[in-house]
Amino acid sequence: MMNRKNRGGRDLHPETLALGYGYDPKLSEGAVKAPMFLTSTFQFERAEDGKRFFELAYGLREKDPGEVPGLIYSRINNPNVQIFEERMAAWDKVDRSAAFASGMAAITTFFLSTCKPGDVVLYAGPIYGGTFFFFEKILPQFQIRCIEIDGGGLCPATLEAHIHEHGLERVKVVYLETPANPSNVLVDMRAIADVIDRVATEAHRPLFAVDNTFLGPVFQCPKDHGVDVVLYSATKFIGGHSDLIAGVVSGPAAVMEAVVGYRSILGTLPSAFDAWLLLRSLETLSVRMKRQARTAQAIAGFLKIHPMVKSVAFPGMEPDGSPEREIYDRQCSGTGSLISFEIHGGEAEAFAVLNRFEVMRLAVSLGGTESLVQHPASMTHSDVPVEIKNRSGITPALIRMSVGLEHEEDLIDDLKQALDVLPAPRVTLTSGAQADFDAP
Ligand SMILES: *Cc1c(COP(=O)(O)O)cnc(C)c1O
Repeated sequence: MMNRKNRGGRDLHPETLALGYGYDPKLSEGAVKAPMFLTSTFQFERAEDGKRFFELAYGLREKDPGEVPGLIYSRINNPNVQIFEERMAAWDKVDRSAAFASGMAAITTFFLSTCKPGDVVLYAGPIYGGTFFFFEKILPQFQIRCIEIDGGGLCPATLEAHIHEHGLERVKVVYLETPANPSNVLVDMRAIADVIDRVATEAHRPLFAVDNTFLGPVFQCPKDHGVDVVLYSATKFIGGHSDLIAGVVSGPAAVMEAVVGYRSILGTLPSAFDAWLLLRSLETLSVRMKRQARTAQAIAGFLKIHPMVKSVAFPGMEPDGSPEREIYDRQCSGTGSLISFEIHGGEAEAFAVLNRFEVMRLAVSLGGTESLVQHPASMTHSDVPVEIKNRSGITPALIRMSVGLEHEEDLIDDLKQALDVLPAPRVTLTSGAQADFDAP
């Protein structure tokens, strides 16, 4: 049985653990796959068991060595959810992962359980629209201030200045997404962690939290770069089939205890059905992400030399020796499959291209098996103030593409015919002119 994390002194890989770890077939008639536990409540063998399970769930006593929390009620825990969490914790190399009913449920539960009135959250923009709304409109109602610090390159000195300005004791969380959406700009996680380590005292250390939805867990392990807490919209690559909504928070035991406690009360645990789907999805996660990335690399290469494409933002595409490339080489093990590109023209031209796709679907979201295209300026980022849009490169000519599992040739043909709607460029391309289109 593969209910162990290591064999012969070596840790098993998360791809291997996805096929069996955390599940005991003996408890389910020998079924190779974990059945779906569609039950709201769990029967106790003895009243004494129920008492002990509740003591643990409500934090009335410490866990005994090796004690596994007993099942009580599906808002508190559920076997499908627990198995998924054990397999995610292996990917993220953390003490504990917790699953949620959505990415936003994961993000909001994390902040509500971590921050108290008077606390400050420092974050690097641009961030996901729902998270931005929560930071701007909801957390301030609880006297929790969220302050945007220099995004993009996020100069560590800016972070340090902000921490001193607000007072170390008040800064509870430093938060960011890398790569950023839709700019694909990378933030140097190690440089941020170094600032936090430098300013931290024995009494207080701000938590460093990263939304790892775009490259994780396969191509980016933030824990390896000094990050404490990793968050996901599991709706995207982890679920991967555009058929569920879910989220994850992964982190050290001390943080996760509060996160899981709040989850029970806020009621943000996912359903057993969605957790079961997530278990199915984890089995193919690495294969899917790697194939999608390979196809995306071919598409990015095609876009880069297309005469109607003005610029392409794709992780790992920056020239050797540039600071961005250096960060990429250090903290990413793959490109992922999200490409943002600008065409020559404005909204009308972008819409004309978007309306022509036949294989790729015109829809928001990302990370699924099917390729999706959308227009950030008028769709996912429509409520972002204009000056932030300009600063983050969210122009009317920008298209974001999430590359799926279709055959590369069909996708490139689709892209070619969609871009053909644009008028031919006025310049005739010589090798010299082509260099103009080279800059990312
Ligand atoms: C989609 C997304 C979210 C929100 O997740 P939901 O599952 O839609 O609630 C958060 N962060 C990022 C980066 C996302 O792409």
